[in-house]
Amino acid sequence: MKDKFGRDITYLRVSITDLCNLRCRYCMPEEGVPKKKHADLITQEELIKAIQIAVSLGIKKIRITGGEPLSKPNIIPICEQIAAIPHIDHICITTNGTFLPKYALALKSAGVTRVNISMDTLVPEKYRYITRVGQLDDVLQGIDSALSVGFEKIKINAVLIGGFNDDEIPDLCRMTEKYPVDMRFIELMPMSGNFDFDDKSYVSGDIVLEKMPELVPVDLDGGVARLYKLPSGQGRIGIINPISSHFCGTCNRLRLMSDGKIKPCLHTSQEFSVKGLDDEGMRQQFLNAIEAKPARHPDLSKDSPSQSIRNMNEIGG
Ligand code: SAM
Ligand code: SF4
Repeated sequence: MKDKFGRDITYLRVSITDLCNLRCRYCMPEEGVPKKKHADLITQEELIKAIQIAVSLGIKKIRITGGEPLSKPNIIPICEQIAAIPHIDHICITTNGTFLPKYALALKSAGVTRVNISMDTLVPEKYRYITRVGQLDDVLQGIDSALSVGFEKIKINAVLIGGFNDDEIPDLCRMTEKYPVDMRFIELMPMSGNFDFDDKSYVSGDIVLEKMPELVPVDLDGGVARLYKLPSGQGRIGIINPISSHFCGTCNRLRLMSDGKIKPCLHTSQEFSVKGLDDEGMRQQFLNAIEAKPARHPDLSKDSPSQSIRNMNEIGG
């Protein structure tokens, strides 16, 4: 289904919970978030119905995210039910990876084809600092588990933070030499809650090219990343610049959150609820959300943060 700017809307990101076992400083408050009442959340049945309707309107790719999707006890039945919906090309999951040793095989068997694992640093003390509570070993074991079950694609995502992990760009890039994974660097986005960061924390993705002149450009694959490779790399290196260069012109996404609200754009406050609606009501809300997609979101900076009324743990990235 095309929006009014001619963009084909084919990608739905589904945040199935806003809860998480970690507390990344750019994403979640230190104390976590209050657990929402059951009555304020979309049911599993509504979630699957909403995805079916989105697929009937042209969605072909589903990404399950959160909060931490693998902290949701019914994650595997959810994946199985999504996989049973015809006409979906890819079912992907974005996870902090810490529960992958337990779930990698079950996810693959349930029909998940691609996994993105978030890991901002290879230094245990820094991992503990940025996640406030996490252990680097858990995510490294998660990466091993994902590799061992053979997903179609594994990507590692690092949020670039000046003065924190810019010195690790070469080591993170070398993950693509050691393993058949893509490494992607994402610019830090100023969301309403990430007050821990100062101006020098927001660095352009171009810093990756400055630190790694040996990177060779490779063809784009229709996603939002600019893609490169190390000469001896197995996987690719992606730079995602939501701040320094918008990719709104080719935005093909909608986002559905665990309370049943659809977000037409990551950085605007407008939302459309499907909770409690019948099929036709849900369909209409998806159409409303597609119609409401803006041509682009306003420029973001520390002084002009995202106008989303939510933090990333609710939206899912
Ligand atoms: N818990 C899962 C994880 O960490 O991968 C999925 C949810 S998390 C919100 C999805 C992605 O959003 C992660 O890669 C995370 O690093 C990224 N993210 C969260 N807050 C961000 C911010 N302020 N700027 C840029 N990326 C952010
Ligand atoms: Fe949790 Fe992911 Fe947010 Fe980190 S980025 S706090 S792992 S939801």
